[in-house]
Amino acid sequence: MAIIRCPKCAKSISDKHSQCPHCQSNVAELNAEQVQQLQREQRIKKQQMFMNHSFLALILFLGGFFCLYFLQPQEKTLQWYAYTSAIGIGCIWYLINRIILVTLKKKK
Ligand SMILES: [Zn+2]
Repeated sequence: MAIIRCPKCAKSISDKHSQCPHCQSNVAELNAEQVQQLQREQRIKKQQMFMNHSFLALILFLGGFFCLYFLQPQEKTLQWYAYTSAIGIGCIWYLINRIILVTLKKKK
């Protein structure tokens, strides 16, 4: 008995299963080409998700930056904390997503 990955939901299942217990897809009916195709689609979907995340992070970062620059709230007020933390979180979130995207691309 070997543990394989379900090509549809990517969860670990036994190769004895003809049907994935997680997503009910017929694993046995898929041929190697279909499995590869599904894995490719999954990787693209994953990349797309991280792309969207890094885009949101960038907006958060820029939004915080512009608010701080144009509205110029007094230091250490609630607004100031909100904008600076938006910049910090946006920056870190963006970097994390970029690193994940780079490692995903290397796996190819
Ligand atoms: Zn599955």
